[in-house]
Amino acid sequence: MSGRILAVLASLCLAACVAPQPPVPRASTGVLDAARASAGDGSAWAEACEDWDDWDKRAPAFHVFGDTYHVGTCGISAILIAGADGHVLIDSGTRNGARVVLSNIRTLGFQPENVRVVLTSHEHFDHVGGLWWVQENSGARILTSPQALDVIESGEADAADPQAGMHDPMHPIARHMVSAIEPGEPVTLLGREFLPVATPGHTPGALTWQWQDCEGAECRSVVYADSLSAVSSDDYRFSDHPDYVQAYRDGLARLAALDCDVLLTPHPSASHMRDKLLAGDLAGGMTCAAYAADRLARLEQRLEQEAQGGIGQ
Ligand SMILES: [Zn+2]
Repeated sequence: MSGRILAVLASLCLAACVAPQPPVPRASTGVLDAARASAGDGSAWAEACEDWDDWDKRAPAFHVFGDTYHVGTCGISAILIAGADGHVLIDSGTRNGARVVLSNIRTLGFQPENVRVVLTSHEHFDHVGGLWWVQENSGARILTSPQALDVIESGEADAADPQAGMHDPMHPIARHMVSAIEPGEPVTLLGREFLPVATPGHTPGALTWQWQDCEGAECRSVVYADSLSAVSSDDYRFSDHPDYVQAYRDGLARLAALDCDVLLTPHPSASHMRDKLLAGDLAGGMTCAAYAADRLARLEQRLEQEAQGGIGQ
């Protein structure tokens, strides 16, 4: 095992770390180049996903930029950042959607066993309900936020989640396979730096992720921004939780300030991904600042509805 992999494993080994994972054969540069050359540009995705809202509908993987690929379904994103020492995956999709994700990874010429780390956006079944299946098939370690840790491990919703009680429990994951990162502190995974940004609101533990990817001398900042939609169970009022609303606003401000060339979101429709693909420019269209402004406007609208007595009465 290379010193680099050991260093990464050591950095992932927080309190509950057990024996290191077995060595994984390096993906040759040729495999990375072949994936980049063979992956579609997203036009096939746009064609297959006209009815994009189907969370488990099979969709073809496509190349985003550099070593970044979209490997999700029509309705739910999963993002693969490939590397010679192994791959980082963000989100798994639903329990069934995870099968599509693993199949898409194989189609790109990569092996699920080489997925070494899985990161999370927010702790709901449509984005992390398939984590256990990905974990079973890859042995990957899972990194999440401190607030989402118990939900990911137990599969049970956080009582502070505005949607608590609305969803069935998810499959639990062995405690020693899940670790929490510190939002705001960059984490180096398999040689690449990722910045986790706390963007609570849709859930208490929601994260936005930012990383750099390059094609030759051209580098772009890619942002996978969380849903940030003020959705809740019938009897929840955001206005009853002023600290939570303030944290929600703070996260939106952090998101708006991010260096953000390419914006991706857990629900592709939220950032108009299909329109961007049809326009042939994933770096165009909605920016992080515009996305954050849109989400803030929706939050204000929701708070206004609550003030008018229209919700949660
Ligand atoms: Zn959700």
